[in-house]
Amino acid sequence: MARQLPKIYVTRQLPEEALTPLRTCGTLSVWASDQAVSRETLLHELRDTGALLSMVTERIDDDLLDHAPQLRIVANMAVGYDNVDVPALTRRGVVLTNTPGVLTETTADLTFTLMLGIARRIGEGERRVRAGQWPVWSPFVFLGTDVHHATLGIIGLGRIGAAVARRARGFDMRVLYHNRARNKDAEEQLGCTWVDMDTLLGESDFVVVLVPLSPETRQLISTPQLKKMKPTAFLVNAARGPIVDPHALYAALRDKAIAGAALDVTDPEPLPADDPLLTLDNCLVVPHVGSASIATRTRMATLAAENIAAFLSGQRPPTPVNPEVL
Ligand code: NAP
Repeated sequence: MARQLPKIYVTRQLPEEALTPLRTCGTLSVWASDQAVSRETLLHELRDTGALLSMVTERIDDDLLDHAPQLRIVANMAVGYDNVDVPALTRRGVVLTNTPGVLTETTADLTFTLMLGIARRIGEGERRVRAGQWPVWSPFVFLGTDVHHATLGIIGLGRIGAAVARRARGFDMRVLYHNRARNKDAEEQLGCTWVDMDTLLGESDFVVVLVPLSPETRQLISTPQLKKMKPTAFLVNAARGPIVDPHALYAALRDKAIAGAALDVTDPEPLPADDPLLTLDNCLVVPHVGSASIATRTRMATLAAENIAAFLSGQRPPTPVNPEVL
């Protein structure tokens, strides 16, 4: 008797080239919208699903796993997996995979865009032009801050942090970083200098946050840390919103305790249109687009699908997060 293929559930529309390898190793079911699937529909779909290809917008927790008795693998289409209760999956022997590496350069590009954008007041300038308030050219009107030759402090110098540091070399920047363990490769190849957190906060002109969200990094940047920054310095968060305390950030920006902030990620997400941060000209906010290029999103979808295809054909998935369950 022919073996019944497992059901593979994909929670968003993805390019066909990414989905193709899945068609031969399971019965594919794809959520037919670009909007997030509702929790109710997801739980219903999972009752007979063996493999799930999920996004950061889906919360993968014990409650979800209770509804998914046949689930054996979750392939999260992101490098970060703070939306997943990893110990809960591991306890039940469910494999989790992510998509490291393929989004590194694109996210570093966006991080650098944020630095340049807030330093040179790009959001504010564009708003003024669209509102018919073009500032008349004058030597001391609409001045920004130089990024070149400034000091960059990267909190979390991993894959993306190192790619940002590489870009910073082209801007003749001095690069400090803080990780729990030293990144000797980045020190030797990119000339980065490890410093403690207080030194990084106190000396950097741009503090860039690129750590994963974890219990240890939740609200890593709050009032005490913002107070240690120079009043001329900028904060950039391209990692996850809850790493920065939004109330503390609002107060620091309003009181000009720091010069500005640029955020690709916020807490909450989406950021409501009436959020106080959006009343401030010295805050640049974009809607979580770090990895959002056509090529990179296709690579992420392909890697997530390859993880499922490998697992279902009895091979080791290329990028497991909890390899101990394999
Ligand atoms: P990675 O290579 O794992 O780098 C993370 C770095 O953070 C590591 O160097 C790690 O070093 C450091 N770190 C972890 N916990 C720390 C702590 N408590 N204090 C100081 N440093 C700490 O990850 P990646 O690929 O660069 O991605 C980083 C994060 O960016 C992801 O987790 C994701 O949340 C975010 N991201 C956002 C977007 C977006 O769309 N905006 C896109 C991609 C990724 P140690 O272990 O030595 O501390």
